[in-house]
Amino acid sequence: MPISPTKPAEPGAPTNFIKQIVAADVAAGKNDGRVATRFPPEPNGYLHIGHAKSICLNFGLAAEFGGICHLRFDDTDPAKESTEYVESIMEDVRWLGFDWKDKLFFASDYFEQLYDFAKQLITLGKAYVDHLSADEIREYRGSLTTPGRNSPYRDRSVEENLDLFTRMRAGEFEDGACVLRAKIDMASPNIVMRDPTLYRIKRVSHYRTGDRWCIYPMYDFTHCLSDMIEGITDSICTLEFENNRELYDWVLDTLKTPCHPQQIEFARLNLNYTVLSKRKLIELVEGGIVAGWDDPRMPTISGYRRRGYTPEAIRNFCERIGVARADSTVDISLMEHCLREDLNRRSARVMAVLRPLKVTLINYPEGQTEELEAINNPEDPSMGTRKVPFSREIFIERDDFMEDPPKKFFRLAPGREVRLRYAYFITCVEVVKDPATGEVTELRCTYDPTTRGGDAPDGRKVQGTLHWVSAAHAVPAEVRLYDHLFTKENPDDVVEGRHFTDYVNPKSLEVLRSCRLEPSLAAAAPGSRFQFERLGYFCADYQESRPGQLVFNRSVTLRDTWAKIVKKKEGR
Ligand code: ATP
Ligand code: MG
Repeated sequence: MPISPTKPAEPGAPTNFIKQIVAADVAAGKNDGRVATRFPPEPNGYLHIGHAKSICLNFGLAAEFGGICHLRFDDTDPAKESTEYVESIMEDVRWLGFDWKDKLFFASDYFEQLYDFAKQLITLGKAYVDHLSADEIREYRGSLTTPGRNSPYRDRSVEENLDLFTRMRAGEFEDGACVLRAKIDMASPNIVMRDPTLYRIKRVSHYRTGDRWCIYPMYDFTHCLSDMIEGITDSICTLEFENNRELYDWVLDTLKTPCHPQQIEFARLNLNYTVLSKRKLIELVEGGIVAGWDDPRMPTISGYRRRGYTPEAIRNFCERIGVARADSTVDISLMEHCLREDLNRRSARVMAVLRPLKVTLINYPEGQTEELEAINNPEDPSMGTRKVPFSREIFIERDDFMEDPPKKFFRLAPGREVRLRYAYFITCVEVVKDPATGEVTELRCTYDPTTRGGDAPDGRKVQGTLHWVSAAHAVPAEVRLYDHLFTKENPDDVVEGRHFTDYVNPKSLEVLRSCRLEPSLAAAAPGSRFQFERLGYFCADYQESRPGQLVFNRSVTLRDTWAKIVKKKEGR
């Protein structure tokens, strides 16, 4: 699939085909100009970034047209549904910034009504109880090239069907012994219309209705009627339901319901280096491949939240990818770009050293400390300045020093002078090594007291500026560096004999335990976000970080690969 070229939306223009449809309907006075959409998750997993696209679309449309968006749990398949999922979904939708007001619904609250609608279909001669086995039903269904065959049970009388269906509900039959099917057309070119199953027997406790029911309605029967009951105007779903639209309309037309929502399909979100199927995400969680649904490597809303993403960045991403009718895959670097753009505006800059190398400034007075002024955010002067302590012993980043540097290495090396951000010029005069291993353990440098603040009065230039922390003042922290969870661009494309988990990136998490941060971070609140200068954006882990035991997650690096992709595309 191609990577979709995405442009920011033109202001003022109807930005996608669904908005155009809704705008035209409103203009024509359809539904009295009312707009009601819904987001209908099944509570069988946590929400992922694909759901965010659907949430932004549905809530966004409602907001734009002065309507309302319902949150409806499509909870008709009890085996994998739970209250934990319901709660996580509500939390995630709220966190994304959307409000369903009092429009919270559960399809399971409609079980009684749905049962009555099923009886109506039977009475109309449009549904029957079938005793074929699941295998037989499949076999009778035919294929794209051959029509299906009628079930021998298809022509039972209305009375017999009503009796059997009542007994299905009463628990007189074993699971799988029979189903209720719509009586439509076994020769329909649309296989969905070949007498689809409406109800099956399933003795599984439901997290809300308990053991009250042993028959459960199928998606195609439940969804259109739930939309209808709630007075939804636009039922927006992903493209794989295109063939189901005919059945959606058939159920409502056959029952002559007073309200008939319009189903509109759009292309689901696919992201490279990412899986977005709940089944696969569950496998990652249950297989212990990640630390949970909110593992910062997961494409779940809770994973992104923990990683340090902002709701604004996610909403902006959803706006920029647009809504189309053709499947495509979005480059994950666009998401990272949206986050960077947002955090660049609002996060405070601080200095943190992830892999510390000690530097002693041999001509700096022992025991002296001074406070240097540092800018909190060059993008936003209103964020002010802060004081950063400086002293004789500091830490710099281990990879900011090379004993034998190649040509383009502009950082520290023996005999070389560099700038310490907000501080002084320093020159490396001696390299101390561990005699046993040869590892560099300390640099001994001189500093130039006339360069305080970062400029030399004689106008001499240095090529590198390094971040640093004062050894005596720094606070320790654990920092977790994250990379893509999969090494393969399309992890859903699994070669024969392999499993998608074979493509999990073994380096997707690197934990650094001896990091040193400037002291202003000592009290960093869980969840707070910063730019660590020269390194990236980091967020105090809201589960595990606390003052005195800081844990930071890298949200995103500073390197903008998306900007590079755009440049390349535009031939710049
Ligand atoms: P999955 O395919 O991940 O199991 P699902 O479609 O089964 O997801 P639901 O809980 O039924 O999960 O989804 C709720 C809503 O979110 C549906 O309207 C669905 O169309 C939409 N949705 C799910 N995945 C995506 C996606 N990748 N992109 C856009 N919308 C999506
Ligand atoms: Mg679904």
